[in-house]
Amino acid sequence: MLNNRTIKEIIEPQYVLEGAGVLLRRSIAPMLSNRFDPFLLFDHFAFNDPADDPIRGFPMHPHRGIETVTYILKGSVNHRDSLGNAGLIGPGDVQWMTAGGGILHEEMPRRGPDGIIDGFQLWVNLPAAQKMSRPRYQEVGTETIPVFDKNGCRVRVVAGTVAGLHGPVTEITANPVYLDVRLEARARFSLPVSEAHTVLAYVFDGQGLFGNTEVSSVRMAVFGDGNQVEVRANDSQVRFILMAGATFGEPIVPYGPFVMNTQEEIQQALADLRDGTFVRK
Ligand code: FE
Repeated sequence: MLNNRTIKEIIEPQYVLEGAGVLLRRSIAPMLSNRFDPFLLFDHFAFNDPADDPIRGFPMHPHRGIETVTYILKGSVNHRDSLGNAGLIGPGDVQWMTAGGGILHEEMPRRGPDGIIDGFQLWVNLPAAQKMSRPRYQEVGTETIPVFDKNGCRVRVVAGTVAGLHGPVTEITANPVYLDVRLEARARFSLPVSEAHTVLAYVFDGQGLFGNTEVSSVRMAVFGDGNQVEVRANDSQVRFILMAGATFGEPIVPYGPFVMNTQEEIQQALADLRDGTFVRK
């Protein structure tokens, strides 16, 4: 039996300054309560005025115990890391980085031709058994992301499956769904989801009916229990990032760019950074 999920919470993103002075809209952040297990953080960097100063970006910093997912709509992010990887995440591209046991990297946003940057970064937790795993990247070029386009629904499938279209990001422990969904006025989108998954929708354009709750941009909507997600557009279009993932049910201890399971593991991460053993060869 299909049981539509209803919205149990709507979160208004807060402005925060991160890195070397990048203004972000943050809707969730790592918390001891781990309320959105396996999701830890969601940032939207879309509010940089073209007339503003240059964007300073995120100089070299560490990560351990998590995955970071960067999705760019406009502009780009220049990326390079301690393992010698480097590249440009351009419009429509996704970088799914599994930091595992440790990576040091730099992320430098760059304006597009219209002077604007628009994009998102999601943090996904890793289970205890994989927190110290080998770092790994899945670099997804815009042209390799399948698009479901029917009945006023346009869905870019980054991870998960929509109407038989499989997203290119695979072999992630949280078994995630990550979709960029745009509905024209009056269009309706539904997707079966696992009962056991946490489901979030970040609504960043227009408004629509999520379950039976009206949600307007810009908000993070948190779905309650059920095995299907249904969204309907009203008189205007609506666009959102739909995320679902399996919960790990483990305690977490977040500390800046690290999310581990215990305080001792955080101390170890800091000690490794001091000793220069943070990144394993
Ligand atoms: Fe980072």
